[in-house]
Amino acid sequence: MTADTRIHGDVAVITLNNPPVNGLGLATRQGIAAGINQANADPAVKAIVITGAGKAFSGGADIKEFGSPKALQEPNLLSVILALENSAKPIVAAIHSVCMGGGLELALGAHYRIAAPGTSVALPEVKLGLIPGAGGTQRLPRVVGVEAALNMIVSGEPIKSEMLASLPGQKLFDKMAASPESLAEEALAFAREVAAKHADGSALPLVRNLPCKHPLGDAYFQFSRNMVKGMSKNFPAPAKCVDAVEAATKKKFDEGMAFERELFINLMWTAECRALRHIFVAERAASKIADVPADTPLRAINSIAIIGAGTMGGGIAMNFLNAGIPVKMLEMKQEALDRGLATIRKNYEAQVKKGKLKQDKYEQRMALLSTTLSYDDLGTADMVIEAVFEEIGVKEAVFKELDRVMKPGAILASNTSTLDVNAIAAFTKRPEDVVGLHFFSPANVMKLLEVVRGAKTAKDVMATVMAVAKKIRKTAVVSGVCDGFIGNRMIEQYGRQGGFLLDEGCTPAQVDKAMEKFGMAMGPFRMGDLAGNDIGWAIRKRRVVEKPDMKYSKTADLLCEKGRFGQKTGAGWYDYVPGKRDAIPNAEVVAMIEEHRKSLGITPRKISDEEIVQRLVFSLVNEAAHILEEGIAAKASDIDIVYIFGYGFPPHRGGPMNYADEVGLFNVVQAMNRFAKNPLDDAKFWQPAPLLAKLAAEGKTFN
Ligand code: NAD
Repeated sequence: MTADTRIHGDVAVITLNNPPVNGLGLATRQGIAAGINQANADPAVKAIVITGAGKAFSGGADIKEFGSPKALQEPNLLSVILALENSAKPIVAAIHSVCMGGGLELALGAHYRIAAPGTSVALPEVKLGLIPGAGGTQRLPRVVGVEAALNMIVSGEPIKSEMLASLPGQKLFDKMAASPESLAEEALAFAREVAAKHADGSALPLVRNLPCKHPLGDAYFQFSRNMVKGMSKNFPAPAKCVDAVEAATKKKFDEGMAFERELFINLMWTAECRALRHIFVAERAASKIADVPADTPLRAINSIAIIGAGTMGGGIAMNFLNAGIPVKMLEMKQEALDRGLATIRKNYEAQVKKGKLKQDKYEQRMALLSTTLSYDDLGTADMVIEAVFEEIGVKEAVFKELDRVMKPGAILASNTSTLDVNAIAAFTKRPEDVVGLHFFSPANVMKLLEVVRGAKTAKDVMATVMAVAKKIRKTAVVSGVCDGFIGNRMIEQYGRQGGFLLDEGCTPAQVDKAMEKFGMAMGPFRMGDLAGNDIGWAIRKRRVVEKPDMKYSKTADLLCEKGRFGQKTGAGWYDYVPGKRDAIPNAEVVAMIEEHRKSLGITPRKISDEEIVQRLVFSLVNEAAHILEEGIAAKASDIDIVYIFGYGFPPHRGGPMNYADEVGLFNVVQAMNRFAKNPLDDAKFWQPAPLLAKLAAEGKTFN
């Protein structure tokens, strides 16, 4: 059991002890139930305190149990909460650090609650496509009011305990502890106080007995429904949150509970909920590397050097400054350093202006940043990240210098997006210390980090950079060495399909609209304009030499020949007004596409949104299957994480691999066979990757 009970004089203290966040898995629930029984059977005990060991009161349900029979196995969370309510001796929940989801629902079953300041309180189920399922929607409105509760339930966002304690008329916390350190002591005293109060046998207070009304009733819920609909177009869960809270105001408590349960179970079986849960688990799994043990000793990383203060170097630097880690940047010329520094300042000042960063924090961060023109100043840094021009000769010169000056044991990282990390490692006498850290632009904003593992990269280097990624709040995925790594290798095929669609009859706006309706943050052509169409152009120029028989549409080359590189030149597939990001369709571009189509003798046809989505998404899937097979990605879920966190793939679809699994791999292969018959498409590409063909034939899935 992962909850234990100790007797402190006349108070029994039940402590949840299931690291890291005291998840309410079966063993923990059994421990709580046993503790309540033990305390009630012990005549010396007058009151009970329930709390959590370590870094949380409780982070909520054990997500690994979701969808498994274990979640329902008795005592399930509902029964445990009932046991709290039915305890003859008063129970005080002593809440600290993190009190979320099922953890908050558990606390709401206690007779009294005392909280430490600084506790993050939330019902985050909506983020997994669910509503709270153990009374959260029925009890929270009774203690913080309908509006505050609904805001918390629909957003899933945490609120600090002191903020909740200041709500007028709130009954969530009976008492606030002076500090987290004094909570245990104060909880014991409070438990004795309530034991004395109820020594006369007076009834113990239950949240379920509190009234629950909104003065505007129907009008308020109608308003909420409209708001929620606008904000969450593809998710069913937020609207169900409104329904459940409304039920709390209109139904008897037990009927409201039954209603909540029904909504919860129905949501549990939706594809959206499966997708969101998949991402939750996949993100955690991505940080683990099969052959690198969790207890691998880490190298200490307390200072960073960055080579190149351009677009990427500056953004990368900000990540470390934000985490309080000192950074030294090197450039070849003072002007380049000045430019890089000015960009970092400008970015921070914009945050200060928007009220997202305090002036003193900004100054603290800038104070951690220093610059140099000399490699000899870098030697003591624990890790160096190179972000210079993407030319192998330049990388060679830089890595030879780094090999000369960096102290033994320093990690040497490259932010290259296309070059061979093994070749870069071979420029040094310490290839085991070399690793790829592929940040995405803007590097201070984008969550994804591809960690490129070279053939000789040491295991402790891998473990260290994964830990560093966490520290700078990136979602890291390991990729093997190949052209484009995981993400860009796949996007090249996606871009190629986009080109064929234009040749066959689409406009850029039609393709983008279809993909955005599917849920992508932006369609392929808007994305090209944002990233710069010249990047793809450069890659194609290389490809036509490497693979002269590769089939591709020339339309994007024609666009680039006009200098339409995208947002940075004010014109790409669309036009842009300075200072704005709205994509305005351009008639000349459409005419250019039509003319090119005519020159190829193609009669345009009407292409459905469904075909657009399938061709683009399945092109990702087929390339990804090759990537998996080659061992470039360790697991399908890593690929999903790359696409969700780096390429704007809709979370409620769970990533391309999860989406393919939902569609059914048999159906995916059938569609590919159909696309292969289209003479204007690339039949060779649409040969299903052997792994995909095998899984489909066996009726299996990627994940
Ligand atoms: P950039 O041109 O904006 O910046 C490169 C900087 O490196 C310039 O300031 C230049 O003065 C400096 N530099 C060049 N040679 C140098 C040398 N020998 N010593 C010191 N400084 C030198 O380029 P960027 O977009 O920041 O790209 C840098 C690296 O990051 C490239 O390898 C690129 O492939 C990779 N990358 C770029 C992106 C992106 O979207 N821009 C995304 C991921 C990775």
